[in-house]
Amino acid sequence: MSYWISEDNVAGKKGITLYIILPTIGCYRYRIGKACYMCAYPASAPKQPWEQGRFVDYVKEALEKIKNKNRVAVKIFTSGSFLDDAEVRPEIRRQIFELIAPLENVKEVVVESRAELVRLDDVRELSEIVKDKYFEIGIGLETQNDALRDVAINKGNTFEEFIKASEIIHKANAHVKAYLLLKSAFLSEREAIEDAKASIEKIIPYVDSISLNLTNIQKGTIVERLWERKEYRSPWLWSAVEVLKWAKEKFPEKRILCDPVGAGSQRGPHNCGKCDKKVANAIREFSNTQELKYLENLDYECQKEWKYIVEQGLMDWQLITW
Ligand SMILES: [Zn+2]
Repeated sequence: MSYWISEDNVAGKKGITLYIILPTIGCYRYRIGKACYMCAYPASAPKQPWEQGRFVDYVKEALEKIKNKNRVAVKIFTSGSFLDDAEVRPEIRRQIFELIAPLENVKEVVVESRAELVRLDDVRELSEIVKDKYFEIGIGLETQNDALRDVAINKGNTFEEFIKASEIIHKANAHVKAYLLLKSAFLSEREAIEDAKASIEKIIPYVDSISLNLTNIQKGTIVERLWERKEYRSPWLWSAVEVLKWAKEKFPEKRILCDPVGAGSQRGPHNCGKCDKKVANAIREFSNTQELKYLENLDYECQKEWKYIVEQGLMDWQLITW
């Protein structure tokens, strides 16, 4: 079953999130053969498409999990865009939101969409249904740099489209979360950090939350091929710590989130192998609570090696240890 609960930041404070992955037909970019270079999520879309009405029962079933929980967020993800009518029709979206609206323990509702699929009427309608909850739409911007998003990610949209989507979402009384990718293909560790910081600075006026996504190596992607040739390494957890600390100090009023998925494995973001668990937990605690103390005083041996790589601006293919 593709739903589960875990600790998270819920509308600013620590709480519980119910994640629900809807088995839609997946991202249209993937369907037309233009997948992002790091993403294999749509590959898990069911071979036999579901009748969309079943999504409503599926959500109903998932909501059972949070019956006796306090301070809950419900995050509904597809392997694409919740606001793509081909994935989830408008009346199905409505029915799903109507299930969530009366639940008093649910304080936050999050869905995701590509920027160009965000339309005012659709967002306004959903926002109305859950009007006493914090409603946020996550948009995969990845980077503020259009050339990089095009060449190194193959995302197929622009910063301008992100700004437009953000304005629509705010107009509809909902909130904006930007997903930024830490370390796309072809970047050195240093460039990855610089790109994330530049992106955060540029998007601040348009967002309520920022989620820093650390590249993990998914099966069948271009990034996986580079990794197999030792031309790409997932980001160091130290790089994430550096960016998160910098961002929270500079913009304390914004929610700065990070879930280091797959941390500590060779495919996931990692350090030396010895400190990974501790550093990943520190990142999670920071994300859940927004308290910087969790990122301070982290001091492990491999930080020196990471620092050297960043200072020298080494490319991944130049690294001796991996
Ligand atoms: Zn270490």
